[in-house]
Amino acid sequence: MKRAAIVFLVWSCAACGSRAARSAPPAPGALRGANVLLVTIDTLRADRVGAYGNPLGLTPTLDRLSAEGLRFDIARAHVPLTLPSHATIMTARYPVGNGVHDNGSFRYTGAGPTLAATLRTAGYRAGAFVGAFVLDARFGLNGGFDPYDDRMIGTSSELDVVQRTAEQVLAPAADWILSAGSGPGSPQPPASSAWFCWVHLYDPHEPYAPPEPYRSRYAADPYAGEVAYADATLGTFLDRLRAAGGLDHTLVVVTSDHGESLGEHGERTHGLFAYEATLRVPLIFWAKGALQPAVSGTPARLVDLMPTILDLAGIPVPGGLDGRSLRAAAVGDAADDPGSYFEALNANLTRGWAPLKGIVVGRRKLIDLPLPELYDVATDPGETRNLYAAERERARDLEMRLDRATRGAVSASPSTIDADAAARLRSLGYIVGSAAKPNRVYTAADDPKRLVHLNAALDDAAALWDRGRGDEAIATLKQIIAERPDMIVAYDRLASLLSSSGRVGEAVAVLDGAARNRHADRDLLRSLGAALRDAGDLARSASVLEPLVQNDAGDLRAADTLAQTYSRMGRTRDAEVTFKRVLAASPNSAATWNNLGTLYLMTGRTPDAREALSRAVQINPELASAHNGLGVAWARLGDVERASEEWRRALALRPDLKDARANLERIGAR
Ligand SMILES: [Zn+2]
Repeated sequence: MKRAAIVFLVWSCAACGSRAARSAPPAPGALRGANVLLVTIDTLRADRVGAYGNPLGLTPTLDRLSAEGLRFDIARAHVPLTLPSHATIMTARYPVGNGVHDNGSFRYTGAGPTLAATLRTAGYRAGAFVGAFVLDARFGLNGGFDPYDDRMIGTSSELDVVQRTAEQVLAPAADWILSAGSGPGSPQPPASSAWFCWVHLYDPHEPYAPPEPYRSRYAADPYAGEVAYADATLGTFLDRLRAAGGLDHTLVVVTSDHGESLGEHGERTHGLFAYEATLRVPLIFWAKGALQPAVSGTPARLVDLMPTILDLAGIPVPGGLDGRSLRAAAVGDAADDPGSYFEALNANLTRGWAPLKGIVVGRRKLIDLPLPELYDVATDPGETRNLYAAERERARDLEMRLDRATRGAVSASPSTIDADAAARLRSLGYIVGSAAKPNRVYTAADDPKRLVHLNAALDDAAALWDRGRGDEAIATLKQIIAERPDMIVAYDRLASLLSSSGRVGEAVAVLDGAARNRHADRDLLRSLGAALRDAGDLARSASVLEPLVQNDAGDLRAADTLAQTYSRMGRTRDAEVTFKRVLAASPNSAATWNNLGTLYLMTGRTPDAREALSRAVQINPELASAHNGLGVAWARLGDVERASEEWRRALALRPDLKDARANLERIGAR
């Protein structure tokens, strides 16, 4: 296949005059000592970017970087999910190599060199600023970064839904870049050292709720509004850096972790399939004066980012990576196409559907499922004509390449429940198989293409709930379970809606029944432990959660849930130790600081409570319940003025917070 790069004339770059771009690629180390700014815009479809042909003008910032820099016309992610995709970027290894296959239940355990650690060893200071809990430090991508800023902001104490806006991510990032590098808790590096900064903007991820004026301007297409907001905010950030000289001798790399399906192939968002809508991402390298404007047709992969950045920066690339440097590909001088592996295993891990893996080489893309698919993505970018039956020989070749890419990989499973823990759970009546079922044979009935309507039904249930139609939402989830009893995630969602409706006993019954019928995984058992606690069955809650925590010290969500059960049981010492263990791995978890502060309030340790709750509101100023608790601490310490200030703040954030209202009324009555 011809892979010639298209090299544009420089049209408005004063530094370069009107010369045509050079035809030689940048030399190794062409950006030696340069700062590196890595921008990942979550859930950004390549074809929503102007530089990739979108006519709506959503992305003037990216379009400018592209016009002045090096753009890869074809770039692909390897997993359409946030944590595993960022793990491929940071490790230059496929999920089979770095061990991270899904959000939440997997974490990177430091099996190999990361981009941050390698740059740090080379003398860089490295800081990360992320926009969603899914990239919390507890999931392991924090290695090599200091700071790793994962402070989420919002009124909810539900960990999974917390995020922050592009502005909230970029403000501290700019401060850090423009500072001399002094940070709390770190010895001050020399002010002259180069920096590596990773910023992660979560906004285009659902829910699509852009701020004004984007909300009104894109009322009919709020996803586009989020893209426009993220791009504009990035533009303001880059302007601030540029004005302060922060972009001089700096390599900027912009990409995304995956796209968004927006209804294609029956998929509303991302994570289920691996069609081009969610695999294709933008990829732009920009370095003023050092990289010539160009567009490369060489297929690029997210695993290639780390080797490319290191190569340009003149830092030796560690061995054993799946990625390779794209430096020479800047002018189409690439060696042969190594192919790009991809997978989407969430539905296999949480629903028992067939595992989805595949590979794309050149224009041919194989999706290995019980109903296999082969596409020519050059002539059929929408992947509507399955060529698998017609091109068996080509398919066979790709199947062999896919086998090679996954050879030696252990089957994907989150931290499993070991025999000892399983035995303890069995004594409670709960049957947990090993989470991985390597010997299971999947048939066409397990193919996600045949089951995508259940995915839509899960979305429908969530939408019904959001519109206040709780009974219909609950009925929809029950129907899903009736059709596909091994869809563990549906029990979890059903129990969550029942709990939120005050039907805690029914929630326990749903989870308990699932666990007795072999439909238990770590997530479901953790939910069962929480539901038992809410139902007042504290001893059983602890019995379910303790094996999970003792079996896997890294399961911080189980630990946090167990600590709350200990609190309610009056086992304050155990609760405190467990909360502190969570905070050691995830120091910016405002919800956990809040829980610890509440424990101290309950046990009369008021100064400790004030300390912990102050930390909670420093990290997340919108956490209403922490403001309320802090008010109680101040009142006990005799500072009624500060107490009422905290209670008023709590009420302003959450007018439904009865405790705060009652506290205010009490002092008003005095
Ligand atoms: Zn994502």
